[in-house]
Amino acid sequence: QAHKEVRVRIAPSPTGDPHIGTAYIALFNYVFTKKHNGKFIIRIEDTDQKRYRADSEAMILSALKWVGIQWDEGPDIGGPYAPYKQSERKDSYREYAEVLVNKGHAYRCFCTPQRLDELRKAQQAQKLPPGYDRLCRDLPKEDADKKLAQNIPHVIRMKMPMTGKTIFKDTLRGNIEFENDGVDDQVLLKTDGFPTYHLAVVVDDHQMKITHVIRGEEWISSTPKHVMLYEMFGWEQPEFCHLPLLRNSDKSKISKRKNPTSINYYRRKGILPSALRNFLALMGWNFGDNREMFSTNEMIEGFTWDRMTLGGPVFDLKKLAWL
Ligand code: GLU
Repeated sequence: QAHKEVRVRIAPSPTGDPHIGTAYIALFNYVFTKKHNGKFIIRIEDTDQKRYRADSEAMILSALKWVGIQWDEGPDIGGPYAPYKQSERKDSYREYAEVLVNKGHAYRCFCTPQRLDELRKAQQAQKLPPGYDRLCRDLPKEDADKKLAQNIPHVIRMKMPMTGKTIFKDTLRGNIEFENDGVDDQVLLKTDGFPTYHLAVVVDDHQMKITHVIRGEEWISSTPKHVMLYEMFGWEQPEFCHLPLLRNSDKSKISKRKNPTSINYYRRKGILPSALRNFLALMGWNFGDNREMFSTNEMIEGFTWDRMTLGGPVFDLKKLAWL
């Protein structure tokens, strides 16, 4: 088998001030791919119109440039899979959602926001886990076609199998299993024609030939949906690697209240980018000796996943102060 080029990506959402967690995830993607002479790609995930902020994209790119993480393909330098902005690829996602409907792996759901709201409340009252009750899953085709012809607003949902398990291998954690009947019939395409994150991420990672999806551990519970989508499309899956999240010293997820989470905060403070990279690297990784100061190039040279610590890296600014 021919050697496949390693291709990784970070996929920040332009929802505000660039977050230090983005730099941390970017750093590990960068180091891993450079270790394997691969490519590092930036994609802007701007499908969430409600949280979108117009100035955020430029801020993210500028912050990452300042941190010193260079990308090989992305919004301002192009590449074979440009334009890399999901809002510009809307038609493509819609086509793929229709492909799944035609294959019988997805269905149109005409439930009104009001019905879904009542459902949510009823589930809450009965202490049931939230999720769609699959009412439209068994809607006869003629009925669905009729509603479609009447232009009744609808979403497209994936038809999660109701038996069996979805299993994937995580680079750092080994096999992770999910019971399929516990996974929701995820909305893939919204009423406004925009894809959800789940559809967009799978279509894009496939089209951009991403070989390793390296992202924060908060996405682990989404991965069975993604794995299932790869199967439904008949596409080869990337390898998944979920990095431990940065934590406050009380082990809660790093938050603005307890730590400055904006990359620009560190920039304004006059911290050296190389020191910040060193600090972020040490959050999750070590050389296997006591070395606390190393350059990103040294890290690339010595990088292996087995020196990653899973314990929930504590974001301790006192450590940054002496660097
Ligand atoms: N847009 C997601 C984020 O902002 C990307 C998650 C992923 O890497 O799949 O974190």
